[in-house]
Amino acid sequence: MPTLFEKIIAGQLPATVVFRDARVTAFLDIKPAAPVHILIVPNKAIATVNDIADEDEALIGHMVLVARDLAAQHQIAADGYRLIINCNAHGGQEVYHLHMHLLGGRPLGPMVTRI
Ligand code: 5GP
Repeated sequence: MPTLFEKIIAGQLPATVVFRDARVTAFLDIKPAAPVHILIVPNKAIATVNDIADEDEALIGHMVLVARDLAAQHQIAADGYRLIINCNAHGGQEVYHLHMHLLGGRPLGPMVTRI
């Protein structure tokens, strides 16, 4: 079964795409947690961080560079932002197609709640 994000990449599901190239697609999160909330997704289906292959090293680096450029374009680079990749149940991953969240536009608070 293709994931939601594979369908968005294929143009079968609507999304507000803010960047696309041969390797990644970036689109607005449907339920934003911050004024800027963009998902940066590899076009290749990789389920989780655990499934990243050594040969994907450049692709993962590319995702970070795309995040850097989108942060600049959305005027959040100077104030700062957060990049998050959730993995599996304890990481809170909901969609099993690797994605990096780019969050910014307000102070984001502590990274996790301390116990
Ligand atoms: P995760 O919890 O897997 O790291 O993040 C999944 C993200 O995908 C969530 O922030 C959620 O709001 C977003 N999301 C889920 N379904 C859709 C959708 O159909 N379209 C878009 N644009 N975002 C989605």
